[in-house]
Amino acid sequence: MNIKNISFATYTLDDNFRIIEIDNVFEKITGYNKGEIKKSNIYLMDLFPNNNKDFYFDEFNKITNGEKLLEHRLKTKNEHIIFVYSLITVSSNSYKTIKMFTPNNSLFLSYKEKELEEKYKDKIKFLENTAIYDDLTGLLRREPFIKTINSYIEKKVPISFFIIDIDKFKNVNDNYGHTIGDEILSKVADTFKEVIKESGLICRLGGDEFAILIPEVKNMEETKIIAKSILNKVAKIYIEDLKDFKTSVSIGGTLISNYNKVINFNYLYSTADKELYKAKEAGKNRYSISM
Ligand code: GH3
Ligand code: MG
Repeated sequence: MNIKNISFATYTLDDNFRIIEIDNVFEKITGYNKGEIKKSNIYLMDLFPNNNKDFYFDEFNKITNGEKLLEHRLKTKNEHIIFVYSLITVSSNSYKTIKMFTPNNSLFLSYKEKELEEKYKDKIKFLENTAIYDDLTGLLRREPFIKTINSYIEKKVPISFFIIDIDKFKNVNDNYGHTIGDEILSKVADTFKEVIKESGLICRLGGDEFAILIPEVKNMEETKIIAKSILNKVAKIYIEDLKDFKTSVSIGGTLISNYNKVINFNYLYSTADKELYKAKEAGKNRYSISM
């Protein structure tokens, strides 16, 4: 099966569950257009049929991190009820991005749930399996990243692990808007790709937080060179509409050169996160790395 066979509607909710961004497929499926989404307050609740509102809302609300696939009914603007699958991804700041597809991309006005479930089992599986890359940045999502890390850990390969967080990113969203914020996220991600190339894995953990893993790294010196090179390249990011904001990141890192203790993702994350905290505290736009 090919991903081109499925067209997703993508929309984003803020932490009040207000719909803040939609795409063309969403317009087509629901009948809401971008203009009214911007102008009037339309909430996730408005997409649910009256008799399921609370139940569905709870299901969405329960998802506080990572991603989950839900099947539910959706009420279009002109009050047709359709059946959709939604892949919900929550970033660390609680923004929710939802990729939604209707079986066959057609609008189901009547349906038999069990039948559909059976019929589209493969598609759902496929959807889950292909949820590997983050839409905005093209970087690995958290789950597949962790899986691959585990395979390196099992082989006891020496690794450098970094957590990288954009500095003062909230200011950009607040002062210049979400779209410019997204542009920064995407440019920062491109910078990581440029520096790391094929030598490692890059992941968007969520929001403005990224992780990088470099296997077969030699020593601390090499690890620091990578961190420095990220800082230097990020400093060169240029965005036309951003005159008085200099994009920078802070990096927390750790080098695992032997496997004397139990190493897993949580260990790597918490160790690098402590270093990230130090880098932020020391004034940002810098790295801190432990061994
Ligand atoms: P610090 O220097 O301490 O990191 O400060 P900060 O302002 O960057 O704070 P923090 O990392 O907590 O802020 C993350 C912000 O990222 C909050 C939210 O507005 C924004 N954000 C998260 N995901 C997205 C996204 O997909 N797009 C955009 N535009 N903004 C996002
Ligand atoms: Mg930040």
